Amino acid sequence: MIEKVLIANRGEIALRVIKTCKALGIKTVAVYSDEDYNSLHVKKADDAYHIGEAAPAKSYLNQQKILDVMLSSGADAVHPGYGFLSENDDFANLCEKNKINFIGPSSKSMNLCGDKMECKDAMLKAKVPTVPGSPGLVKDVEEAIKIANEIGYPVLLKSVFGGGGRGIRLVTNDKELTDGFKSVTDESISAVGKSAIIVEKFLEKTRHIEYQMARDKHGNAVHIFERECSIQRRNQKLIEQTPSPIVDQETRDRIGDLVVKASEAVDYTNLGTAEFLRADNGEFYFIEINARLQVEHPITELVSGLDLVKLQIDIANGEPLPFKQSDLKMNGYAIECRINAEDTFLDFAPSTGPVPEVTIPAGPSVRCDTYLYSGCTVSPFYDSLMAKLCTWGQTFEESRTRMLNALNDFYIEGVETSIPLYKTILKSEEYKRGELTTDFLKRFDMIEKLKKDLKTEKIEKSEAAVAAAILHSEYFQSRVQSSTQDNSIWKNKII
Ligand code: ADP
Ligand code: ADP
Ligand code: MG
Repeated sequence: MIEKVLIANRGEIALRVIKTCKALGIKTVAVYSDEDYNSLHVKKADDAYHIGEAAPAKSYLNQQKILDVMLSSGADAVHPGYGFLSENDDFANLCEKNKINFIGPSSKSMNLCGDKMECKDAMLKAKVPTVPGSPGLVKDVEEAIKIANEIGYPVLLKSVFGGGGRGIRLVTNDKELTDGFKSVTDESISAVGKSAIIVEKFLEKTRHIEYQMARDKHGNAVHIFERECSIQRRNQKLIEQTPSPIVDQETRDRIGDLVVKASEAVDYTNLGTAEFLRADNGEFYFIEINARLQVEHPITELVSGLDLVKLQIDIANGEPLPFKQSDLKMNGYAIECRINAEDTFLDFAPSTGPVPEVTIPAGPSVRCDTYLYSGCTVSPFYDSLMAKLCTWGQTFEESRTRMLNALNDFYIEGVETSIPLYKTILKSEEYKRGELTTDFLKRFDMIEKLKKDLKTEKIEKSEAAVAAAILHSEYFQSRVQSSTQDNSIWKNKII
């Protein structure tokens, strides 16, 4: 049985894993880079080991260093979080060889899932529909052009090793394809050191709908419903919700059955996600399996009542799933907003630096997974995700309203955030009506709407921002100094 888990990650997901371990009485080991001396995950874990310089290649991606820490700290298991080494089958294999329990699928299954083409092949064999495209890897530009003309533009060029929206290019003619082929190759090589490209039909007006799946080491598998993740920028999710407004119970069950088949087709164990695109005509097409805990897992937790990290640990311990498909019931509506440190008006460029003051929202059915605290720093070396704000409601409207209020209460000083954009989206009629497609931002001119909202100040100044502004005003500072003598003055004035 797992007794000590090393978390090979940082940020909010490291904290998320530590929470469950604490609840289960499992000891935790954190690792950290030069950049993360003062990070919360280092303080919250039972032990923490420095593993190198800020650049991921020198720390969070350094397999040998992390293995050394596992062996010297006495950790018997590793949780990889998402990103970094989480989908690296060499690392999973290294853990297997050293008898460290890797909390995730086997290296063999991960290897299959990590290659979008091989995984699609396995799905075709299992009769799970996939997006039409090249029958295999395309070896050069000439072959890609030939296939693109056969299936018809627009097409996507995809690195089979891509992730997080990277390594994908939409091209509409031979010339764009020629340029795109090179940029996808370069991007993939710089991210993962290798490249292999497939061509896929670009499906227009699609929704990204994915299913949480769980399969134990005895072959029992379930799906834990869908998540709609259509609101994206640069092919990466911004806002997710469950249930999807377009999925009825019949569809949920039908696609859910396919998901169970998909997990069997790649002999998947532990938790994973099967991603689909839903075309305008209602057809679902499999795109990939994410062989790890998903960023947006909290919304599934909110509607299922499960602790998915606990489920991961139980499965890694070899326990059978504690429920059958028919035991799982979906309750209510949940939404997640990924609070990124980025400037919406600078094409979502990262915004980094010190965060002197933070107010984290709370309230009934409000959950915020974050590494932020007043005085922390948002590092330029890592992902821009600072917090995941989730709300639950008995109705969609209740969840949406709670989200708007929570966004309004969220105050982050020092960096640009995606919060203003989310307020505009959550208030829009299109969002309320559930008209979700992966081009939502462009289709409904959300950035223009945000500009207008900011001008007409339709977005109320957040209460938390006002409170923080008062706290930082010179008035307050001067009163704090004198308050030791007479605090009745500022009590009267501020409260
Ligand atoms: P999810 O698939 O969990 O919904 P993302 O697609 O945003 O979320 O991926 C999760 C995170 O994993 C990203 O924010 C990114 O940091 C990281 N990531 C995933 N794949 C890659 C990759 N190929 N290269 C670099 N980072 C990646
Ligand atoms: P990643 O590994 O980066 O997550 P995915 O293959 O899951 O890559 O695709 C990410 C996003 O790109 C999808 O959510 C969708 O918005 C878009 N996308 C991917 N494939 C297609 C396609 N064939 N047609 C239209 N959009 C696509
Ligand atoms: Mg994906």
